[in-house]
Amino acid sequence: MDKIWKEMYDAAKAVHAPRQISDYVTCGEVAAAVLSKSGRIYTGICIDTCSTLGICAERNAIFNMLTNGEQEIDKVLCISPNPGRGGPCGACRELMVQIMPESYKDIEIMLDYKNERIVKLGELTPEWWIG
Ligand SMILES: [Zn+2]
Repeated sequence: MDKIWKEMYDAAKAVHAPRQISDYVTCGEVAAAVLSKSGRIYTGICIDTCSTLGICAERNAIFNMLTNGEQEIDKVLCISPNPGRGGPCGACRELMVQIMPESYKDIEIMLDYKNERIVKLGELTPEWWIG
């Protein structure tokens, strides 16, 4: 496995800290790391609220990347409470497709870090509803 995945795992692990923020908000149960094409790693955690104000760790990390002036995703990894289940949800996949409609299929996704199972987003999302 490419050592960049270990760096991404370590970056996600560093922010992976489940905690309760208030009676209505928890966060950090899932942590994600996104590698941009420039080689920088951006992290994000999930934020869960009693309504729909929260965000997935992956999208939070992607927004962090966008906030910092980048827009090309190379790899995505997340640490979830369910080992071996590190795939992005439909909303996160959709965001990646919309950000990179011409090349999203090449984004690499770490589905299972322990077993080094890596797939391309094009395998998870072979056909896009707009394209
Ligand atoms: Zn998601």
